[in-house]
Parts: sequence; C-alpha cells; structure tokens
Amino acid sequence: MARDPRYDVLFEEVSIGPVTARNRFYQVPHCNGMGVHYPSAMAAMRSVKAEGGWAVVCTEECDFHHTGDVAPAIEARLWSEQDVPIMARMAEGVKRHGALAGCELVYGGMASHNLQSREIAMAPAAIPMQGFAPGQARAMDKADIADFRRWHRQAALRARDAGFDIVYVYAGHNLCLMQHFVSRRYNTRTDEYGGPIENRVRLMREVIEDAKDAVGDAMAVAVRFAVEELAGDDGIAADGDGRATVELLADLPDLWDVNVSEWDNDSQTARFAEEGYQEPFVGWVKQVTSKPVVAVGRYTSVDRMVSLVNGGVADFIGAARPSIADPFLPRKIEDGRIDDIRECIGCNICVGGDYTFAPMRCTQNPTTGEEWRRGWHPERIEARNGDGRVLVVGGGPAGLEAARALGQRGYAVTLAEAATELGGHLNRLSRLPGLASWARVVDWRVGQLRELPNVEIFMDSRLDADQVREFGFDRVAVATGSHWRRDALGRTHRAPVPGLDGAGVFSPDDIMSGEVALEDPVVVYDDDHYVMASVLAELAAGRGHVVVYVTTAPDVAHWTHNTMEQGRIQARMIEIGADIVTNKHLARVGGKEIELACNFTDRRTRIERGSLVPVTMRDADDALYRALAGDRPALDAAGVRSVTAIGDCLAPGLVAAAVHGGHRYARELDAETPVDSPPFRRELVALSPDWPHP
Ligand code: ADP
Ligand code: SF4
Repeated sequence: MARDPRYDVLFEEVSIGPVTARNRFYQVPHCNGMGVHYPSAMAAMRSVKAEGGWAVVCTEECDFHHTGDVAPAIEARLWSEQDVPIMARMAEGVKRHGALAGCELVYGGMASHNLQSREIAMAPAAIPMQGFAPGQARAMDKADIADFRRWHRQAALRARDAGFDIVYVYAGHNLCLMQHFVSRRYNTRTDEYGGPIENRVRLMREVIEDAKDAVGDAMAVAVRFAVEELAGDDGIAADGDGRATVELLADLPDLWDVNVSEWDNDSQTARFAEEGYQEPFVGWVKQVTSKPVVAVGRYTSVDRMVSLVNGGVADFIGAARPSIADPFLPRKIEDGRIDDIRECIGCNICVGGDYTFAPMRCTQNPTTGEEWRRGWHPERIEARNGDGRVLVVGGGPAGLEAARALGQRGYAVTLAEAATELGGHLNRLSRLPGLASWARVVDWRVGQLRELPNVEIFMDSRLDADQVREFGFDRVAVATGSHWRRDALGRTHRAPVPGLDGAGVFSPDDIMSGEVALEDPVVVYDDDHYVMASVLAELAAGRGHVVVYVTTAPDVAHWTHNTMEQGRIQARMIEIGADIVTNKHLARVGGKEIELACNFTDRRTRIERGSLVPVTMRDADDALYRALAGDRPALDAAGVRSVTAIGDCLAPGLVAAAVHGGHRYARELDAETPVDSPPFRRELVALSPDWPHP
C-alpha cells in the first residue's frame, strides 16, 4: 500500500547541523535496563527501531565519567576508550539501517550516587544527594568546573569515535548537573556561574561550545532540556527560567529536544495524561530558535503527529514509548498500514524494567528486550515447521497473542472463547477509570487476527476436556485466565481471616461485573500493590460511595513507584476523599466493622465497614488444563501431542506477562526449548587477566 499523501510531511528530510535525518521520526533517549550490562541486547533493540524507519535512534543516559556514576541504574557508559567498542555496536547497528545514532551523555551530579566508583558527587552547591542514598554532594570549585568541561569534551570525542552522529548535552529530568546549574533552587553560587539566569546557563553554554569545537562537522550537538518542571516558583518554568534558557542559547545547539521534568512528569501514564500532554509547555520553543525541535507526548495518532509539525510545535515526532510498543511505527505509516500500528497503551511497564534494574518489558510488544537474546523480531517470525493444527482455548491477551503469532507462522489455528467478546479480563479492566487505552492490547490483536485466513474464531464456546479431545488437534494451548479471590488469601494472609466469609465481601471480579450493591463505607483492601485497588476505589467514589483504602504497604498502590504513578495515584485517592490506612492488615472481619493489625506492633484498631473488597491475589482457572494434562492416555488416544497452560492460567500476572507467554508459546511450539539451561543467549563478563593480583 502507498502512504497517505496527508502524511508526506512526516517523511521530509530535516537537517540537524551537519547531519540529515531521513524523516521526522525521532526516538529520543530512553532507559531500558540493558545498557552497560546487556550491550548487545541494547544494540539489537535500537537497531530494530532503525530498521523500522526511525530517522534518529538515541541511547539511554550514557554516563561518561566515574565521578558521575549512575549505578545501580543500568545505563550506557563511556568512561574511557575501553567503552568505545561496546557503544560502537549500537551506533553501527543503527546506521546499518540508515538512521542517525544519537548518544545522550549524562553527568548526574547530585543525582549520581557513585555507588560503584565510591567517588564524592559534585553539584553547583553542597546539597544532599537526590533519591535513595544518604550523603551529600560537594560544591564544585572552578577547578572542578574545568575538569567537568574537559571530561564532557573527551566523552563527546569518544561518542564520535564510537560512530555516533549526534551527541547530547543533557539538562533534563532533574537528573543532571547542567540542569542543576540552571535551577535556582540548587544553584546558590555567588560567582559567575550563579545568580542571574545568564550566569546559571553559563556552564551549559560552555559545554555546548566545547562539544561543537571538539566534534566539528563530524556530529551534531543536541541539547535535551527540561523547559518546565511543574515545580512552581522554585522550578524551571516555561514562562520563566525555561524560556530564558532557550532564548539565551537559542541557535547555539543544532537541535532542541525539550520536555517536562522530572521523568514522572515527562512519561506520564495514560491514566493521568492524554496524548500530546506536553504541548502546552513546549509549544513556544520553535518560536525562539531557528534550530529543529523535538517534542514528545506518547504520540500514536498519525493525524496528531501531522498537526504537531504543521502547527509549528515541533520538527520531529519524538517518541520513547510509542517506539518501544511498535519499533516499526514509521515504516507502517510510510507503507499505508496505519491499522497495523501497535499503539502504546501508556502503562509504563517498560519504565518498571529500568526501575527494577532489569531489561525492560512492554505490554504491547513481547519482543522488546528479546531481539538479541532470543532472536525475536517484532515483525518477522519463522514459518511453521510442520503441519499441525493448534487449538487455543481462551481469547484473553495470552490466547489472542498465541493465536495471532501462530497464525502469522502459518499454522491452522482455532481460537475458542467462552464469552461473546474477545479480550478476556482486559474487557473488564479497560472499563475501569483511566484504563481505557489498555483495550488497545485486544484491539490490535483482534485486528491482526481478522487478516489471517488460517485462524478460525469460535465465540460463545466454553470447551470442556471431552470436547477438546474430540476435536483432534495436534496441540492445545489453554489460556483460560484467572479470577480474583474473595477471601483475602494472598501475600500477607496465608490462612483464612476470621469472619471474612460474611456478607458484603466482594472480589474485584464481583465489582467489575457491575452486579453488586455496595454499602458505605466501602473498604478497599490492597495486598496486591498494583493498580487494581486504586481503580476500584475510584470507581466506588465515582458512584458516590465513601471509600476507605487500607493497604498492607507503606503507601497506596505501592508497586506503582516502578511505573512512576504512585504519587499521582496517592493524590487521586486523597482527591476522591478516601481515608488512607497504611501498614495494616486484616485481623478479623465483622458484619459492620473490621479489626486491623499494625504490621510492626500488632496493635489493633477498628474501622467501620459497609462493603469490603479484598484485592489480594488471583487463582488460575486451570481446571480444563489439569483435566487434559492429567490424563495422558486420553490425550494419546485423541492424537493430542501437547497441552500447554499459558498466561494467567499458568500463573496470574501482568498483562505484559500474559502477552509474552502467548507469544513465546507460538515461537517455541515446534522448537526444542531447553529447560536445564537458559533458553536465551547471555552476555557474560570478560574476565580480567590480572587475577589474583597484579
Ligand atoms: P489471560 O490474561 O491469560 O489471557 P484472561 O483471563 O484475560 O487470561 O482470558 C481468559 C479467557 O479465557 C476469558 O476470555 C475466558 O472467557 C476464556 N475461557 C475460560 N475458560 C474457557 C473455556 N473452558 N473455553 C473457552 N474459553 C474459556
Ligand atoms: Fe507503552 Fe506500556 Fe509498552 Fe511502555 S510497556 S511502551 S507504556 S505499552
């Protein structure tokens, strides 16, 4: 198919200083939990995006000096010449597919804990370290500033030697020294680097000039800058120091990559921000500079992208998450395959990888992070090896992805779903407050399945073991999902809670079914720590109920610190008027009251209750799987070679895990998958020769 002429503007070349981007799709720097520990995986993940049509593909943060060590975060590294070949792997992979490779140099200052190097961090002024480590950064003197400039210059040259086309001067996300110099709340210096904004941007100006002088025409020099911190008078603001900084440096860099700081403001989830949410804060930058501007905002709508360019907001469609969910997004637009775009759902499970120091995962794209180690490509998949017919039971995210990927491989697939609509538990979840975009997981897969003539779908078809065996399929995947427990058993409670079997106790599934009458106050009990308890609390409050949010954790939706939503969810709970009770668990449940026990002291308190909604754990709906797998002779008689539980039926978890499980099933159906050793390639450290001691 040809591309829609309305989208031609997105495929214009754009000059960035001495280099030229082939179109307007720009993968901005983004963390991925791979970097220095898994450099081949990182390089392969980036290369695939270049193959998918992105014109510019950048690294994550790349720390460039041991005094600015970002450990334990797993980012890229250019501390010395030794790192150059490692980073060259990414640059080479990206350029092989015709994209420009960008390197985001970072010096964290008080945001670098130097946990590996044990150096003392430096900042514009003496100040406590940001984040989770005790200790303080020391104030930089003039010699330190000179050192820092030299280190940055050397790093720019190393980035050039590694083959990058663009080098960044990074002053964003409140994670780097140059932003701290611009910030009036951190920069309390009285010399020429402190005081008026002209002085506070001095270091940034010098570093841009240094970089340009060092790399000449070999590379472009980009600036990534937080033009707005949403931090009131103390912060960098789009109508204050943010604008002044861009005005003062206007045409000095070759490109402005602008956003809202900190990272949790920049990468907000769909529950809290719409596509394009940064436009009001960054829309003015293009009027202040003649250099190209990159803006982000979880753009997946092509019309919105066009209006971003035509409306004069930005020259490039910046993307991190949309490029993770669909590395081939530009190519699909170019080929006129808009319906094939796998849209990001804005859940930030990808961010959770980085936050937990593990390679990132994506709810929509099960191949992310698997490009190198398992050899999975987001668009291509090996043709089937054999003629078998496959039955997939259950059309939730696991079953849909298994059927889709098997269909793509050319297998004859039958998908049987008990309900009258496909989607499984996502149909219920995506109707809860703020989670509508999660339906994209279903929509994309259902759309793809429609294009596969070798996949038959039967709705309203609840299968039992006899029926499955009668059909005579070679392989059966059981993706029958899970349901929430009503009895509060889970992480904290390993034995029944006295009194919990009484009236007025509802599981999340009961609430989502819409068939229960809640009574005030509605006590939502969170021992799950992800989003479910908070969205049910919102739902109940939206129906006019008084809500009490009790959690076994120190704060609401505790795990969502890893998706950078926790602060917003806590604020939302406060806004809906919920009474928040933390660090307590159920001791006894009565008809009208609940006795809670303090996690630390076991001291008891009582709260009134109308309804109680325990959100603790789910049970796998694996009866069909057990009936089938438990009778091997009957399977043999029916000619069924394998029965496999996938997704929540195997173990309830994140949607990302269900999609990955379905995809993996399809990939490995006809392969020998080792179980006694890792089923993927690993990147092993090279042992240093000077052992035991030099
Ligand atoms: P997952 O997240 O693992 O995909 P879900 O709970 O979202 O799991 O989806 C499971 C799907 O399986 C639901 O749509 C449910 O209706 C369907 N299902 C459950 N049991 C059967 C069965 N015996 N036959 C057909 N479909 C079933
Ligand atoms: Fe988007 Fe979620 Fe994938 Fe991240 S994990 S790219 S937010 S769909």
